[in-house]
Order: sequence, then C-alpha cells, then structure tokens
Amino acid sequence: MLAGHLFIQLIPAPPSKTVIEAQSAQQRTLKYGSNMATQTISEEELMAFRQQLKEANDIVVFTGAGISTESGIPDFRGPNGIWKSIQPIDFSDFVASEEVKKESWRRKFSTTGGMNLNIDGAEPNAGHRAIAELATLGKLGSIITQNVDGLHQKSGVPEEQIIELHGNANYAACLDCSKRYELDDIRQVFLQDETLPICDHCSGSIKTATISFGQAMPVKAMEFAQQATLKCDLFMAIGSSLTVYPAAGFPRLAKQNGARLIILNNEATDLDQICDLVLHYPIGATLTAGLSLLA
Ligand SMILES: [Zn+2]
Repeated sequence: MLAGHLFIQLIPAPPSKTVIEAQSAQQRTLKYGSNMATQTISEEELMAFRQQLKEANDIVVFTGAGISTESGIPDFRGPNGIWKSIQPIDFSDFVASEEVKKESWRRKFSTTGGMNLNIDGAEPNAGHRAIAELATLGKLGSIITQNVDGLHQKSGVPEEQIIELHGNANYAACLDCSKRYELDDIRQVFLQDETLPICDHCSGSIKTATISFGQAMPVKAMEFAQQATLKCDLFMAIGSSLTVYPAAGFPRLAKQNGARLIILNNEATDLDQICDLVLHYPIGATLTAGLSLLA
C-alpha cells in the first residue's frame, strides 16, 4: 500500500524542454567556483567513504551524465550540451510524421556532430570500473542510470542489475511490440534512400531505444528502480545534478526509508543537506580511492 502510494508520487512529468537544469548548473558554478573538479578527497572523507562502503551490503548506485563525461561523452542536457544548439525532437512529432522520423534517423547517423554523442567507441572509465567492482564483491544491488550509453554493461555489470530510466542509445526497438533492432542494420538501409525501418513482427515504427522528450517514462524500469531503492542500505548518487524528477525522487526515498545516502558529484546538488556524506570531487579517482582497500 505504502509502496504503491510512493510510486505514484515518483512518476515524473514527461521530460520537458525547460532550461531549469542549465540555469541551476550555472548558478552553482557561480556560487562554488569552477575549480572544484580539480580537488581531491581528504583523508578524513576517504576514511568515512570506505567505512560506508564496507558496512553496506545492498548498494544502489544512481548514475547521471557526470560519470560518463570522463569517457568523453558530453552531458547533452548541460549548459554546453547538445540541446542548447539543436531543438530536440518531441515524441509526439516523431510518431505523427514520416518526415520527422527521417530527420531523427538523419541526426542519429550523422557523422558530423549533431546527435553524435560520442557513444560509439566510448569505453568505461575508472568510475564505471569501480562500480563493476562493487558488483563483483557482491555489494551491488542495482544500478539506476539516467545514461543511455550502455557503459555499465560494457564495464561488466550483469544486465539484470542495470535499470535504464532513459533507455539505451546503442540499439533500436519497435514502439509497439518492443522487438529489438540493431542500428547497423537500420543504418545500412536508411543511408541508401532514407527508407524508414518498420517492425517485421508487427509493422510498428522503430525508434532508437531511448526515452525522447515528451515520451512516457518506462513503467517497468521505474518500478524496478523503486523496488531497488526501498531494498538498499546505501544509496550512492553519482554524477547527477539531481534537479529533476525522477532523479531527485529516488535518493530522497532511499533516505526516508532508512538507507544511508552518499552524493558524489563535482558540483553541489539540492540534496546535499540530507546526505550522510557529500563528495564534490572527480568521480573516477574518488570511487577508485574509496574501493581501494575494500576487496
Ligand atoms: Zn513490433
């Protein structure tokens, strides 16, 4: 009963085109200066971090764009992100128009910037590897990620431990029956004469398997994320500004439910005040240091 109630509260409004994130990121930069990312963790903080990791048995790691920037993938919603220079395609427009579908695939397969998010060929960095190490140690419950780059999978974390809130940009899926399609196959046909991909199972439209602006959040993923959050004893939010729901909802829920909360981000977040430990340091190096004596 309680879980159901909470779930309703967590269902977010569809992603909007507002600039709230960019504004607050800018304000934070003004407030805290821009040299924070160059600092390193103090010995005292490192001891506290290790202690929290040591005591935890069921960790939920929540990741945002910040963890993947160290792999060369830009934060496409950030102040210098792609959505500041390119108008995003709204889901309803994609569904309604053949021409918009074509534009969407043109962007996807463009080799000169545009929707090229540097995901192709990106490799997991020290941060992803440290989280994979938590899985190996049996301490990881789930990863809840806002990222669409698939780098947690690539770092060796089992698929069933990864909950993708915004989908995955490395493949496509039928909008009606969810059948998976590989981008290489679609690219080959589309680049010849812009033939739109159609599902061979149900004739539905095929789209990159990400959640677009205006598209509903994936219900199953949201449910799994809530279950994992309510079950964990330590919730670590990494590389997310936590300014929009559901990003802000899960760490709050974990904390309310008695879990410890750690935020690791190179800038301040709105939830820093309710944390057990706040670490404003580079992600890869800090996670690596935290895990170094854990095994
Ligand atoms: Zn289909």
